[in-house]
Order: sequence, then C-alpha cells, then structure tokens
Amino acid sequence: MNIILLGPPGAGKGTQSQRLVERRGMRQLSTGDMLRAAVKAGTPTGLKAKAVMERGELVSDEIVSGIIGEELDSMGPESGAIFDGYPRTEAQAQALEKLLSDRGRTLDHVIELDVNEDALVERITGRFTCASCGKGYHDKFEQPRLPGTCDKCGGTEFKRRPDDNAETVRTRMAEYRAKTAPILPFYEAKGIVSRVDGMADMDSVTEAIEAIIG
Ligand code: ADP
Ligand code: ADP
Ligand code: ZN
Repeated sequence: MNIILLGPPGAGKGTQSQRLVERRGMRQLSTGDMLRAAVKAGTPTGLKAKAVMERGELVSDEIVSGIIGEELDSMGPESGAIFDGYPRTEAQAQALEKLLSDRGRTLDHVIELDVNEDALVERITGRFTCASCGKGYHDKFEQPRLPGTCDKCGGTEFKRRPDDNAETVRTRMAEYRAKTAPILPFYEAKGIVSRVDGMADMDSVTEAIEAIIG
C-alpha cells in the first residue's frame, strides 16, 4: 500500500501519518521532516534548504525527489509508504511515478485533506512537537494528557518550527495553491483521489482515511 496525503500546511497530514504508522506499521515519508533533519545536521542539502524553508518557499524538486528515492531504498518491499508533504509540484509527481515504478510499487490512494484556509493559521501557530519522539501536539486542539509530558515517550522537551508563524504560513499557502493543488487533476485522471473533510476532529479524519484505504 502506497498513499499520498495531500493538503495545505496545517491540514493534518503529519498527524494522520503518525496514526497510520502506529495502526498499520506503514512508513511515513515526510520530506519536511527529512529536510529539517538535514538542516539540523548541517549537510549540503540542509545548507541549501535552510533559507528557502524559512521563507516558506519550496525546496528544489531534485533535492526532495532525491531524498525520497533514498528513503524508499531503505525500506523493505513489504512496508507501505505514506507520502506526507510530497509530491508538491508537477515535476515531483512525475518523479514519483518513476521512483515507484522502478521499485515495483504502485500508488493506491491520493487522499486530499480538505480544509478551510482560515483555520490553518491557528493550527500552524499552535503546533508543537515532542523533541524526543516527534509526536505532534497543539496548544488548543491536542495537549499532552499530563501537562509538559509527552503521551507517547514521556519526554519533557518540546519544540516549535521557525517557519510556523503567521507570516510564513501565508507564503506556504500561496505555494500550495499555485504549485501543489494543480497536481490533483493528474491523480484524478487515474481515479485514485479521495477527499476527506479535514475540518472534522482528528479521530473522525482518521476513521474517514481508514474507510478509504480499507
Ligand atoms: P500538516 O502536517 O498537514 O502541516 P499537522 O498534522 O502538523 O499538519 O497539523 C497541524 C496542527 O493542527 C497540529 O498542531 C495538529 O495537532 C493540529 N491538528 C491536526 N489535525 C487536526 C484536526 N482535525 N483538528 C484540529 N487540529 C488538528
Ligand atoms: P507542512 O507540514 O506545514 O505542510 P512541511 O514540514 O511538509 O510543512 O514542509 C516544510 C517546508 O519544507 C516547506 O515549506 C518547504 O520549504 C520544504 N518542503 C517540504 N517538502 C517539500 C517538497 N516536497 N518540495 C519542496 N519543498 C518542500
Ligand atoms: Zn515524545
């Protein structure tokens, strides 16, 4: 099973990917997480990506498709992939076709998280994650059960992304509208797109996704 979660920043791609990983043992391939790891490690890719990410613009297609290829190569053929935040452009969608077919994989579903843009700024500015395990939280919508302690790993340090501010979010939304939303017709023509109401509560979104992937 290989699926794409598609939606603007804050739509819930990461949240739902983490749940699928836990429930189904699938692998989350988040180009955003991979790029942030590269920035932190100071690799050549990270050095190129840092300023672009801080502006909320898109990193080059070659870089992100390259890291997705490496990640796919590190996976066993039996583990399913959840593409979270990739592809984001027409060129990436084309690259993914080849990356998958070269490895004997096929794309089963493209799930679009349909959200109201007005809600996204609040989702993004309230987002934080566990510094140890990466579990996602929100100031208002998903706080740790025990304040200051991660539900999943018991960690007590949390972090916020430098690009999760109201100003950068606007650029990221504009990038989504201009470059990412236009790839939907390509997948619609293949008959593999499903739409989920991303404004519903997190559990309802998970149920809707489970119903699609069966
Ligand atoms: P994305 O990966 O698409 O950018 P996230 O999954 O990180 O989005 O979600 C953004 C923020 O909104 C997170 O803080 C998350 O806890 C919260 N969130 C995710 N899904 C929902 C939802 N259905 N309702 C309310 N808040 C949500
Ligand atoms: P979000 O979860 O809010 O949608 P991501 O974590 O997926 O954000 O991405 C953060 C940033 O990393 C993007 O604004 C962009 O600069 C870069 N990035 C991530 N994935 C891609 C991609 N597939 N193509 C180009 N840039 C990307
Ligand atoms: Zn944790």
